[in-house]
Amino acid sequence: MPSNPSTVLVIYTGGTVGMVESADGLVPSRDFEQRLRHHLAGLAPDQRSRLPDIEWLQTDPPIDSSAATPSDWQHLAALVAEHYAHHAGVVILHGTDTLAWTASSLAYQLQGIDRPVVLSGAMAPLEAPHSDASDNIQMALRFAAQPGLQEVAICFGGQLLRGARSRKWQTHQAAAFASPNYPPLGAGDRDGIRLFDERGLNAHQRGAPRLERPDYAGLAAGSVPRLVLWPGIRAWQLEAWLLDDRVQGALLEVWGGGNVPQDPEILGVLARASGEGKLLAAISQCPHGAVNIGHYAAGCGLIDAGVLSGDDMTPEAAVTKLIHLLAQPLDNAERRRRFLTPLVGERSASTGGG
Ligand code: ASP
Repeated sequence: MPSNPSTVLVIYTGGTVGMVESADGLVPSRDFEQRLRHHLAGLAPDQRSRLPDIEWLQTDPPIDSSAATPSDWQHLAALVAEHYAHHAGVVILHGTDTLAWTASSLAYQLQGIDRPVVLSGAMAPLEAPHSDASDNIQMALRFAAQPGLQEVAICFGGQLLRGARSRKWQTHQAAAFASPNYPPLGAGDRDGIRLFDERGLNAHQRGAPRLERPDYAGLAAGSVPRLVLWPGIRAWQLEAWLLDDRVQGALLEVWGGGNVPQDPEILGVLARASGEGKLLAAISQCPHGAVNIGHYAAGCGLIDAGVLSGDDMTPEAAVTKLIHLLAQPLDNAERRRRFLTPLVGERSASTGGG
């Protein structure tokens, strides 16, 4: 690919943004590059002049993001790593359903990236009446040309959010993403964009580029389940999930500030799984705020069972971090240390138990 450092590389992976109608409903389409270039060429001259030139890559076949797996995250990181140095930034067009998972995973794989990687998509295809696609894409392209943005972010519905802090929050509304525990990195509309520089990773901990691209293949077969506890959960159910040999780690979503039933059998299963070297972490089922798992007696059992505090991480950021750490040749102590350390601004504190 020719190197032109002022262009933005667009990587199209599928999703509603580029879908077309079929007899079975919306399906991803392979001709989105032509359709989007045609659309951008038809914009009013003042709008068009604010956009960077683009170069295009697409993953084949384009997919509905509900089909994405850790291998897709790995493949995308490889594409970005291979090409980003030749461009001002990268825009990844992606389905919204698992966009926050991909963004979180990319943040760990592209640690220290020194330019923007902006994920976006749309709630309606580009050509649909009142689609949000054009606004989202235009904003994403403009943020991807900002040298002050040096991390993986999601641009959607007028907001720029840290990728590893974001969640899909709405099934239908245009402002479909939220970042419950970290403020937006930027905002904008078709007339202008604004980066809140003091919130960016480069203002805090970016450091030198140190891309980490381990092979996720060994974890692709469901090795890191996500378990949401409910009142009435029994030890046999946890046992079925956690003591399976294929499981290498798990995220537990517990109550409030970090509580679980004080049932010795449940805590015993957790301790056994931890004792087998499985990496277990806990976050709260509340979307806002952090766990503090030693605060109530009902949470102390988690610490005794070796469960790590996930602080105020999203489920997406916590599961993808477990996968990222388990895919690397690290000993258990180092994995635990890194899990408790903010690597890409995905958690607020490095303390909090474990
Ligand atoms: N099912 C679609 C996807 O995630 C939804 C979307 O793009 O909004 O690919």
